[in-house]
Amino acid sequence: MTQVDEQVTEYYNKLLQRNAGEPEFHQAVREVLDSLKIVLEKDPHYADYGLIQRLCEPERQVIFRVPWVSDNNNVHVSRGFRVQFNSALGPYKGGLRFHPSVNLGIIKFLGFEQIFKNSLTGLPIGGGKGGSDFNPKGRSEGEIMRFCQSFMTELHRHIGEQTDVPAGDIGVGKREIGFLFGQYRRLTNRHESGVLTGKGLSWGGSLVRTEATGYGCVYLTKEMMKEHGESLDGAEVIVSGSGNVAVYAIEKAQELGATVVGFSDSSGWVHTPNGVDVELLRDIKENRRERVSAYVEETTGDTFHSDSSIWSLAADVALPCATQNELTGEHARTLVDNGVKYVAEGANMPSTPEAIEVFREKGVCFAPGKAANAGGVATSALEMQQNATRDSWSFDYTDERLHQIMSNIFRVTADTAAEYDHEGNYVIGANIAGFRKVADAMLAQGVI
Ligand code: NDP
Repeated sequence: MTQVDEQVTEYYNKLLQRNAGEPEFHQAVREVLDSLKIVLEKDPHYADYGLIQRLCEPERQVIFRVPWVSDNNNVHVSRGFRVQFNSALGPYKGGLRFHPSVNLGIIKFLGFEQIFKNSLTGLPIGGGKGGSDFNPKGRSEGEIMRFCQSFMTELHRHIGEQTDVPAGDIGVGKREIGFLFGQYRRLTNRHESGVLTGKGLSWGGSLVRTEATGYGCVYLTKEMMKEHGESLDGAEVIVSGSGNVAVYAIEKAQELGATVVGFSDSSGWVHTPNGVDVELLRDIKENRRERVSAYVEETTGDTFHSDSSIWSLAADVALPCATQNELTGEHARTLVDNGVKYVAEGANMPSTPEAIEVFREKGVCFAPGKAANAGGVATSALEMQQNATRDSWSFDYTDERLHQIMSNIFRVTADTAAEYDHEGNYVIGANIAGFRKVADAMLAQGVI
C-alpha cells in the first residue's frame, strides 16, 4: 500500500463512520476517491488544508417536515431535504427528487455527484440536491399542488438566485416546478425567475431544457463513438426508463439514425425491434401518465415483458436513463455477451461498481453520468443566463450551445484521462477534470 492509498483509505473509513447507513453516498464517494489517488500521487498539494475531507462534507444540510392533506382529508407527513454540498464555483445547483426511496443518503450521493458534474460543464454553478420521500404516483393534481406548496413553504428560506437554484429530477417535472415557483413567488412577493429552472416557457423557462438531459447524453455518446471511428447511424440502442431523460434520449438517438430497440419503467420493459414511436410514448407518459404496457396495445410487433430485465436485449449501445444501481454486474456481462460496445449513463449512478468493472475489463467504452447527463444542468445554467438578462434564446441557438458543451465535456474528460495515463477511462477522466476545477477554487478561497 502506498502512502496515498493509506491516506485515502483513512478518509474513506472516517466517512463511513460519520455517515452510517448511507450506502449510495459511500458508493459515490468511493468512486471519486479511487480516481483521486492518481491525482494525489502526482499533485500532493490537493490534500492540503483538509481539502478532501471538506469536499466530502456538505456545506449545509436541511431536513424538514412537509405536512399535507390528501383529497380524503387525511393528514400526511413527508420529509423534505436540501443538501447544499459545495458552492466554490457558484450558487448550489441541482434537482429535486420526489420518490418514496428518497432519504438523506440518496440526496447526499446525488449532491456529491452534482459538484463534479457542474464543474465539468465549465459554467459557474456549485453542487446541491434535494427532494422528498413523497410518492406522487396515483396522487391527484390537487394533492400534488398542495404538497409542492407545503414543501416550498419551508424550502424558500434556503434558496435564491444567488444562493441555491433547484430544478427537477425523478418525479419533478414542469408541473411540479410550476407549483413550486408559484408558492415561492407568493411567499416572497418577488418574481425571481432565476430561483428555479425547468420553468414553463411563458414565465422564464428556456427552450431545450426539457430535452436537454436526454439530447445531451446522446450528443456525448455521438462524440465517444466518433472518437472510435463509429456513429449512431444504423446502431441499435437500448434506453432504460421512459421519463424525461429517456424519452428525449430516444428521440435524439433515432433522429441521428439509430434504432431504439427497448425502453422501460418500474413495471417492466418493451421490446421495439423496429424502433420507438416517440409521439405515442410521450403521449402515454407525459399526458396520460400510464404504464409502458399501454404502448404495446397501440403498436404491432412490439412486446411487453415484466419477468426479465431490459438488459437481456442485444444492442450496440446502452443508455441507462432510469435510476441508481439499475444495471448490475450480471446485467453488464449479459450486455457484453450480446455485443454492447458503448454505454453512457443518462441517469445518476445507474451502473453498480461491479458493472463498471465488467465494462472496463471487456473494453466497453463507458461514459459516467457526471459527464453523460450533464446536459440538463448545463441547460439550466443557460436558463439562468437568460433570466439574468431577461432574454430568451431560440431553440436552435440553445441546442447548439448544449451540443458544444457536451462536446467540450467529452474532450476534457478524454484528454484528462490521457494526461493521467488512463486513456479511454472516462470515469477517471470525468472525476479528475471535475475535481481539479473545484479543488483549485476551494484552495484559493481558504479554509471555509
Ligand atoms: P422521471 O421521473 O421523468 O423518470 C424516471 C424513469 O425512471 C421512469 O420511467 C421511472 O419509472 C423509472 N424509475 C424510477 N425509479 C425507478 C426504480 N426504482 N426502478 C425502475 N425504474 C425506475 O425522471 P428523470 O427522467 O428526470 O430522471 C431519470 C434519471 O436521470 C435519474 O437518475 C435522475 O437523477 C437523472 N437525471 C435527470 C436529469 C433531468 O434533467 N431530469 C438531469 C440529470 C440526471 P416509473 O414511472 O415506473 O417510476
